[in-house]
Formats: sequence, structure tokens, C-alpha cells
Amino acid sequence: MNASSKSDDKSRCASRPSAAGKRPVPGAARAPAPTRVKFWGVRGSIPTPGPTTVKYGGNTSCVEVRADGQIIVLDAGTGLRLLGLELVAEFDAQPLELTLLLTHTHWDHIQGLPFFLPVYKPQNHLRILGYDGARHGLEVVLAGQMESPFFPIGLREVPANVRIEELKTMSFNIGPVRVHACFASHPGKCVGYRLFTSDGSIAFFPDNELPRQDASGHRKMIDFLRGTDVLIMDAQFDTREYQQHTGWGHGCLDDVVALALQAEVKRLFLFHHDPNHDDARISQMLAHARKLVAARKGKLKVEAAQEGVTVKLPAPGRR
Ligand SMILES: [Zn+2]
Ligand SMILES: [Zn+2]
Repeated sequence: MNASSKSDDKSRCASRPSAAGKRPVPGAARAPAPTRVKFWGVRGSIPTPGPTTVKYGGNTSCVEVRADGQIIVLDAGTGLRLLGLELVAEFDAQPLELTLLLTHTHWDHIQGLPFFLPVYKPQNHLRILGYDGARHGLEVVLAGQMESPFFPIGLREVPANVRIEELKTMSFNIGPVRVHACFASHPGKCVGYRLFTSDGSIAFFPDNELPRQDASGHRKMIDFLRGTDVLIMDAQFDTREYQQHTGWGHGCLDDVVALALQAEVKRLFLFHHDPNHDDARISQMLAHARKLVAARKGKLKVEAAQEGVTVKLPAPGRR
């Protein structure tokens, strides 16, 4: 963990990486499997089960990244439960090591943790990284949701080795994967991450309201995201809805597409779907986003994040 820099400054993002930051450190005996990203929860605010959300999914924020021999989980929303089942089936009695990176501790980003089966297996090692948004300490906040009367088993009583580390720096490593963080525009302390893997980079901003185009924060965000291969970003509202929710800390679809184009992002995944948007509405928003890209003759590929879908890096033909 690089502890050389320290920041409480909400305007800060880690600067862009050096060329060395894009490559895994030497020493791996064999080439790791290609990087892949799997969506386990894509919904914002609250789970939305039911027949109208079957296509995109109703679980809240959780994305699995396998890269350079690491298992990195982005957020612990209710989608984490399903990932836990699959990991236990895959690893069986073998020890599992993974890193859980939290963007913030709003309920829709942590509620899957008590139901994550790997924490109930003593051979497993779970490292949880995030920032404290409540001045109570990250461990206190995470343990709080599992205290009686909210849950029958305390976080400190689970059999797995769980290490909670409150981040003080804006860039650090998870094995060979370099990670840069950037404060998001969202109530409380919330960050986005960019992961630099040997197959390309993945940026994750599940909760974020974009700064105005003329604000300095807008330029910082473009610099932070420039050339990202896979951007997963809060695009909860359309323009009309956004006008009624300005300042709520969530993204406007048109602004997110414009930003991705300006930052020369390759693939954009619309994320944190509004709980009031059914599958048809999300498909409409996706079609609108693609029209915006076509109107600008952009090369950006846009998808709406969909539970259960796996995305591979690099894009076909690049490896
Ligand atoms: Zn959220
Ligand atoms: Zn939030």
C-alpha cells in the first residue's frame, strides 16, 4: 500500500498513470488469464425484483473483475450474494483470496456483505478497501449493519479472515493491478476507481453527478478517464428527470455520453439503473445514448449494464 500521499480534498483524483503503471509487475510464472468483468448487480438505490426488471436485473451495485491473477470485487450491493454462491462452487474447499473495493457505504453498495457466503468459510481471506464517509471509521460503519438487531452474526465473528483497510491514498496496488481513485460528486464521501490491468483499464463510477461542462471538475474527470477501455458509470436519469433531481448525486445520460466521447472512452456501460425504470425504459435510454454517439460520429460503444453479463478485455483483435 502506497502511503506516500494523503488527501481529504474532495476535488482530487489520482493523476494519470505512468507507462509502468499500465503493466503488471514482473515475476508471474505464466501469463494470467485475460481480464474479464462480470456484472452481478446493476441497479441503484434499492433492489427491484419482478417481471419488469428481468432483462437488466434488479440487484444493486456489484461488479467482479478478474485480472492479472486477482479477484477484485467492486462494491458489495445485493448482487454480491450471487457472486458468493458462484465463488464457493468454484473454489470449494480451496482457499479464496479476494479484494473488495467499496466506492462508498450507502446501503445499495454494502447490503450484500452479510449474505456473502465466502465470509463464512475459515479458509478464505477477504480484504475490504474503501474510504470512510461518516468519520466513524470504515470498519465501524461496515460492522454496524451486522449488529443486533439488524443481523444475527457480527462482522467480527465471521470465520473468514476479513481485513478492513481504510484508504488514505488515491492510488495503490492490488497485486499487479494499479488502482487510481477519484472523488465522485455524490452526498458524503464517494469515490470512483480506475483499474489498470495488463489488458486495458476499467473505470467504475456507480454513483456520480457530473460537474458542469465549464467547471474545473469536468476537466479533471476527462483527464482521469482518458482512453478508458471499459467505463461503468451512473446514468440514472434522462435529461427531463435530471432537471428534477439536480444535486441528488446521480448522472444524466446525455452528460455521461458526452463525457465518454470527450474522454475517448472505448466502451461505456450505463449503470445504477433507476428503481423506477423497467426493462423497456432502460432499452429506450440505451437507444437514445447510441443515437447521441452516432450523431457525433463517435466510435464509442454503449451498452446498458446487465446482470449476469461478462465483458472481456482486451476488445477482440487487440491481444
Ligand atoms: Zn447507489
Ligand atoms: Zn450512493
